[in-house]
Amino acid sequence: MTEPDQIIVTTPASSRVNLLGMTRSQLEDFFLDLGEKRFRSQQVMKWIHHRGVRDFALMTDLSQPLRARLAEIADVLPPEIAEQHDSRDGTRKWAIAVEGGSLVEAVLIPEGDRATLCVSSQVGCSLDCTFCSTGKQGFQRDLTAAEIIGQVWLAINSYDAWQSGKGRVVTNVVMMGMGEPLLNFDNVVSAMSLMCDDLAYGLSKRKVTLSTSGVVPNLDRLAEWADVSLAVSLHAPNDALRDQIVPINRKYPIARLLASAKAYLDAQTDKKRVVTIEYTLLAGVNDSVDQAKELAALLQDYPCKINLIPFNDFPNSGYKRPSGNAVSRFWQVLTDAGFVVTVRTTRGDDIDAACGQLVGEVVDRTRRSERHRAGRSDHTLVGSSEAR
Ligand code: SAH
Ligand code: SF4
Repeated sequence: MTEPDQIIVTTPASSRVNLLGMTRSQLEDFFLDLGEKRFRSQQVMKWIHHRGVRDFALMTDLSQPLRARLAEIADVLPPEIAEQHDSRDGTRKWAIAVEGGSLVEAVLIPEGDRATLCVSSQVGCSLDCTFCSTGKQGFQRDLTAAEIIGQVWLAINSYDAWQSGKGRVVTNVVMMGMGEPLLNFDNVVSAMSLMCDDLAYGLSKRKVTLSTSGVVPNLDRLAEWADVSLAVSLHAPNDALRDQIVPINRKYPIARLLASAKAYLDAQTDKKRVVTIEYTLLAGVNDSVDQAKELAALLQDYPCKINLIPFNDFPNSGYKRPSGNAVSRFWQVLTDAGFVVTVRTTRGDDIDAACGQLVGEVVDRTRRSERHRAGRSDHTLVGSSEAR
């Protein structure tokens, strides 16, 4: 008797479920639905996030039939690294190709025994702050949770960390790349939960920072879902000026924003936490001594530290970075008023990785996207990292 040819039914990659962006509870549900024990999720999370393994066949503590079943219905699919650039100062930047051909960027900034990864949450941004190159690009789409946590996965894997035993490649994550995280609430919350989960990246909640320009209704509900550190992009000491440079202020003015951020802090168990106030210094716009004094008065008694960011220029921005003296004067007024004030040093300048330069000129970016789609690049092309 001849056996009939075996028909192998394979699920196309696009309809397989991507396990990379699933939180612990989502993965538990996934395995329960498969009729498996809940703890399978823990084993699989460790393979994916601790060891960087994507291939189910290598997950040796799962039974053979389960590995085969997973290979049929699921994937561990990070976005693809399109370009990788290393700066002279150790900063490493990736242009990351997400589905649909767009590029987003992630930047790793090493500093002593720390390394901070700056992560994007959206392709473009709808909020149109006048000094931001991402804003100039307009909004394209939200990143999925897998695309957000995938930036952490790719950054760590790009260092061969698992093999070299180099230790923790990423010690801090800031949601300060492209996009407004609070406008992609669910996916950002899921990704941040993986950043802090011991079965994934195990970062302390103090070392994960969400930065927002002030989407107040979503900030109001953030405490229900997350307890990470909070940074607020203020950039102006009064509503008249903020209305002009951060348009969302016309909807949610400064007083409402600061009250909402304070309520977020008050909901935390750690009562020593403060809000980081980000203030991008734009020459002749918001960098005068009088404006520093006005800012000091506004933030008097507010639980915060202040981070001054000298403007990072990009083509046709229409703004200028203040002189070193102007930055020092602004810093001095705030310091004399008793605030803890840091000035963000520009890193990765030679590779356009500095804050606000993540996109580069929009036209140039579009051309690069096209080149990438055509399979060419004028920079190092690094294939998607494989399982280790
Ligand atoms: N959308 C969020 C997070 C991304 S932007 C937010 O606005 O907070 C991260 C920080 O970089 C924000 O404080 C933003 O105002 C600042 N920024 C944007 N463009 C900049 C530029 N060209 N120079 C300096 N800082 C900039
Ligand atoms: Fe969007 Fe933030 Fe840029 Fe404003 S500063 S346009 S909120 S990414």
